[in-house]
Amino acid sequence: MATELHEALTRVDSSVEKRLIKTRRELHERPELSLSERKTADYVAEHLDRLPVEKLRMNVGGMGVVAEVRGKLPGRSVLVRADMDGLPLTEMTDLPFRSKNAGVMHACGHDVHMAIALEVADSLAVNEHRLPGMVRFAFQPAEERAAGAKPMIEAGVLDGIDRVVGLHVWAGLPTGEVSVRSGAMMASADGFTLIVRGKGGHGAVPELTVDAVVIAAQIVTALQTLVSRETSPRAPVVVTLGSIHGGSAMNIIAGEVVIQGTLRTFDAALRERLLQRIAELAGGIASAMRGSCEFRLDSAAPPVVNDAGIAALVAGAANDVLGTNAVVPFEPLMVGEDVAYFLDARPGCFFLLGGAPDNGPVLHHTAEFRVDERCLSIGYRVMVAAVLRLLAPD
Ligand SMILES: [Zn+2]
Ligand SMILES: [Zn+2]
Repeated sequence: MATELHEALTRVDSSVEKRLIKTRRELHERPELSLSERKTADYVAEHLDRLPVEKLRMNVGGMGVVAEVRGKLPGRSVLVRADMDGLPLTEMTDLPFRSKNAGVMHACGHDVHMAIALEVADSLAVNEHRLPGMVRFAFQPAEERAAGAKPMIEAGVLDGIDRVVGLHVWAGLPTGEVSVRSGAMMASADGFTLIVRGKGGHGAVPELTVDAVVIAAQIVTALQTLVSRETSPRAPVVVTLGSIHGGSAMNIIAGEVVIQGTLRTFDAALRERLLQRIAELAGGIASAMRGSCEFRLDSAAPPVVNDAGIAALVAGAANDVLGTNAVVPFEPLMVGEDVAYFLDARPGCFFLLGGAPDNGPVLHHTAEFRVDERCLSIGYRVMVAAVLRLLAPD
């Protein structure tokens, strides 16, 4: 029966392909920022509401949408996770379905993830009479701020779930290929703010001030030595200070500078130590220069770690659907993903779906980001095959 179902669901006809593209384009046109995914959540819920799903819930841990397809045969419980948020970018593509929301763009491919998950829900729901186990779909807000997974888990989305699966379209991977990795595949991602405080004053009278810009400059330089001097060259670590703001005019000494940065690593102990060292080093420099520095951790996600057994099942499913040559290895990525919280709590697998456009690679999180839409049906087929394998009872 399971094989029959696999055959039926992974054979994609043109109507499935058309629906995937239509859904993805509708979502692409109306991106919303993290924690504001109201219309996106409505769209997803309306789609699910048309299916024979159970326990359709909205506002789960924020804007999250959850629904279940309950098979009539015995089997395991699997959670399929898809993220919903866009990014604060003005889309610079010439696509006919480019963003209609000024300054917001699906520039990471989360529209693709939603379209695939909805299509998987569709096809499993109409086959519930011959489906083993239960599949819960979790549409998660605020991935880009690592602020969506944890609240959904706290709201109980993993209760009764045995296994977790999710995917990320990857524009650096050729369309037609997928990558499934056992163990750590993406880094931890911690976002932090350093507020450097001094004493502002006249630009011509530095002796009566404590210049926060000069203190911040020392801190920015010193933090680079955490990677070069305090960690092993064999342990991948990134410390990036992506934003620095302070001062108001060329002749006014700034009393405050705000620095924002991110730390990435695969090692839990190293992660903890470096967060502490960032705070210590910045605080020590600031106080040595007669100022102060406040460290604040704004967002945090552990590394994305796949369970070896589940990754093998997902890789097997991808092999079945695409052939062995299409399942390619890749090096772990320093990007973060808050799917990490789901995979920390349950054995599971997060895999990469190749989506590189024909006219050359593009970068995620850029105004030119685009994907090859052929990846939609490939992602659907791999995901549905993976879910069927994960549902199967022992
Ligand atoms: Zn992203
Ligand atoms: Zn993403």
